[in-house]
Amino acid sequence: MTLHIPFDNSYARLPEGFAARLPPSRVARPSLIAFNHPLAESLGITGTRDMTDDALAALFSGNALPDGAEPLAQVYAGHQFGGYSPQLGDGRAHLLGEVLTPDGRRVDIQLKGSGPTPFSRRGDGRAWVGPVIREYLVSEAMHALGIPTTRALAACRTGEEIIRDRPLPGAVFTRVASSHIRVGTFQYFANLKDHSGLQTLFDYTVDRHYPDAGSPTDLLRAVIRRQAALVMQWMSVGFIHGVMNTDNCTLSGETIDYGPCAFLDAYDPRKVFSSIDTYGRYAYAAQADIIVWNMAQLATALIPLMQDQEAAVETFTKEVHAMPDHLQAEWLARFSAKLGIDAPRDGDGALIGELLQLMQAGGSDFTNTFAALRLGSARDEIADRAAYDHWHRRWQDRLSEEDDPQAVLSAANPFVIPRNHRIEEAIQAAATGDDSVFNMLRDALAKPYELSEDYYYLTRPPKEDEVVTATFCG
Ligand code: AMP
Ligand code: MG
Ligand code: MG
Repeated sequence: MTLHIPFDNSYARLPEGFAARLPPSRVARPSLIAFNHPLAESLGITGTRDMTDDALAALFSGNALPDGAEPLAQVYAGHQFGGYSPQLGDGRAHLLGEVLTPDGRRVDIQLKGSGPTPFSRRGDGRAWVGPVIREYLVSEAMHALGIPTTRALAACRTGEEIIRDRPLPGAVFTRVASSHIRVGTFQYFANLKDHSGLQTLFDYTVDRHYPDAGSPTDLLRAVIRRQAALVMQWMSVGFIHGVMNTDNCTLSGETIDYGPCAFLDAYDPRKVFSSIDTYGRYAYAAQADIIVWNMAQLATALIPLMQDQEAAVETFTKEVHAMPDHLQAEWLARFSAKLGIDAPRDGDGALIGELLQLMQAGGSDFTNTFAALRLGSARDEIADRAAYDHWHRRWQDRLSEEDDPQAVLSAANPFVIPRNHRIEEAIQAAATGDDSVFNMLRDALAKPYELSEDYYYLTRPPKEDEVVTATFCG
């Protein structure tokens, strides 16, 4: 069977100011790290299993363009750590086009690390193997955990070295996303006072993601709901995005841009991994505040679309101010489930809060403590045993009123998450050309709620010399 990618490129049909049209740059000696055949098939892409690794690598490194691709770099803006950049854009990515899937979705296929574009600023347009490995593993793990996310279709080495703090092997990542429309895309047109561009973007976004939204208010409300749900799903698995700039915040409500992301080991609400997040703006618990700030920026960018702008300010402010309540409700639902409670009621928030306090006080491993609630061994995870015993009795009393707490616990508490030190191990090996750790993790992370043979290796918290203290963008 020959390769067929059923492209239908709606973004390429938007007016000129939305993107720069240009092909990816060629690379020296592309080779395949991984290709996600099941994902390709679910998108209606056929023929990839009959292709050689070299043929796949040629395509997904950007050296050969598939029939129907119309490569472009999208323009956007964004607040980076609170400071506004009026023009960012795909500085090292090319949207090949969109695919209409057999189940009726439209998704973007984008190469990342595929060469410079008019939006590269001082960057080289490239990525190295490390972040490509991280994005592949973490985005697929998030999908397996049931969290809305972009997906990993392919990863290739380029056969070229790129310069970071030292020469490193280059790579290209192929990302699949519901779209790449960002809060920053709206900010870009609003800031330029390009009313027609903003209106076009609004119509396009509603048509693609929120067909029921009749007005900017409806759109804002719907995005706020999805983002509140998303951030609480992150927090329920201990995920720290690391760089929640408004250009990394999607209208679709998917997680995007796995740069300096990481998962909690020991529970600490103030935890930061990202080397560039000096002030903890994007710390674990701060994510629930900063997403409100990001939605306020979206609201601001939508105001020019409203006839009566003064009234719009009032309406949008109400929507944004309602977001903490949505976040609180999502938090309660997610964390109650982690205790085995199906429908939370009064008092459950306090029960959750007390366990978290015990975890924080003794430095309990986040994932393993909740997983241990499934196994009946949580006492071993908490330093203050007496305090745990007291909590445990109240928890058991509460669970006696639930129908099937074990089923709820099992669905809410993964055993296997992409632990930072294991990702780091996969990256170190891949940097020397050894993909065995990557391959092992890729398989294990596909079944996060199951106890596998490699249980100990996959779930053991880092030893002192294994702790990852900082993550980088790259
Ligand atoms: P990020 O922090 O990954 O969300 O990226 C912020 C901006 O920097 C985006 O416009 C990226 O396209 C751009 N960028 C990041 N790395 C590079 C690079 N190596 N070359 C060119 N542009 C880059
Ligand atoms: Mg980004
Ligand atoms: Mg990035």
